[in-house]
Amino acid sequence: MLAIRGAHVFTDGRFAEERAVVVDGDRIASVVPAGEVPAGTAVEDWGDVAIVPGSVNCHGHAFQNLFKGFADDLPFERWRDEVLYPFSIGLDRDAIYTGAAFAFAEAVAAGVTTIVDFFYLHDEGNDTALAVVQAARDVGIRLVLARTFYDRDAPTNAPARYRESPEDARDRFFALAEQLRDDPLLSVQPAPHSLHAASPETIRIALEAARSVGVPCHLHLAEAAYEVEQVRERYGTTPVRLLHREGLLTRELLAVHAVWLDDEELDLVAAAGAAVVHCPGANAFLGDGIARLPEMLRRGIRVGLGPDGGCANNRQSIFEEMRLASLFAKARLTDGAALDAPTAFRLGTAAGADLLRLPVGSIESGRKADLVALDLEDLSLQPRATFERQIVNSMQPTAIAKVMVAGEVVAERGRPTRLDRADLSERIRHVTSRWKGRRQLGRV
Ligand SMILES: [Zn+2]
Repeated sequence: MLAIRGAHVFTDGRFAEERAVVVDGDRIASVVPAGEVPAGTAVEDWGDVAIVPGSVNCHGHAFQNLFKGFADDLPFERWRDEVLYPFSIGLDRDAIYTGAAFAFAEAVAAGVTTIVDFFYLHDEGNDTALAVVQAARDVGIRLVLARTFYDRDAPTNAPARYRESPEDARDRFFALAEQLRDDPLLSVQPAPHSLHAASPETIRIALEAARSVGVPCHLHLAEAAYEVEQVRERYGTTPVRLLHREGLLTRELLAVHAVWLDDEELDLVAAAGAAVVHCPGANAFLGDGIARLPEMLRRGIRVGLGPDGGCANNRQSIFEEMRLASLFAKARLTDGAALDAPTAFRLGTAAGADLLRLPVGSIESGRKADLVALDLEDLSLQPRATFERQIVNSMQPTAIAKVMVAGEVVAERGRPTRLDRADLSERIRHVTSRWKGRRQLGRV
């Protein structure tokens, strides 16, 4: 047992002064006043810090981190057809490992302790997914491997390596979940790619698989206006209405993006108990639009946050997404009170944990010891009297002093502790040098 003392600890939905988080292995045993640590428990004093729950990233594509900068400032079709599809064809297992280690290392340095990797470079198997798993283990981050179902006959020009039959995808999902069952840092969840890449039948198979093992099911939904039009042409209705009509709008469903939803569709999502992963940074970066977050929350829809793929944001910080979620809601509704800092903070921590069904996201007895220490002497958290709001509205990465996952410190002062940075940079250079010159437009 170890008691970690901080000047402030966020517990029970508020900050308490002079507390110690008592950690037993990978779990939080209790939160006690700093002067009441049980006798015989070692105390580690983290100093003048605010200890908050580790942030939860509910949506990303780690390998895309390698493409950062090559796809910037392009319309979506060119982003996809000139960079995402052709570049992803050439990634071997080693490159996939490198992309994942890159994204996960950036994430832990930014205070993310749980990350979803919505992964689809399957090559008809699970070997590449295991490279992602290895990267997570090496960095020390908690991983949700959202194993994608991408139909072999989907009417897209996506690479063959994404594609499988839904039955194969389901069998491989179960095999991977079984293989990783005993790893406390890993969870495997099914993820039919989208309505353009997975048929209603595939989504049904994935939802049943999710239900049978008690996990949620991730699906890109209504991200961009063009996608709504495609669904309308193909199925004669809008994305959410299609899911409703087919009986696929369920409590397991995590709808990623959900930008283009009208009032009735929001009501359908709320009535079904389905949840939304809001990705404000990526939606802005790709020109998708702004999801109707306050309207979702008013209806009681559960919402978590995600930065999305590395080349569609281009950041790995959930603190950043909290700020963007709040700012975009205010700008869109021309209302400075549209989404406050405490709400945004909850979306990036406890609410995200709830979506993923993981015992993380808050500092209380029985939860995993996933903690972030914020340096209260950092200028970006001044004035001290308002530091609680500044975590969302003003904080810079310089304030992120320590990041702990499952009782182990995995990043300190912006540096991952378990990976050699120079070695990782060299690996990234090795993979990405092949694309040098492909993106002269990117010169500034
Ligand atoms: Zn995505």
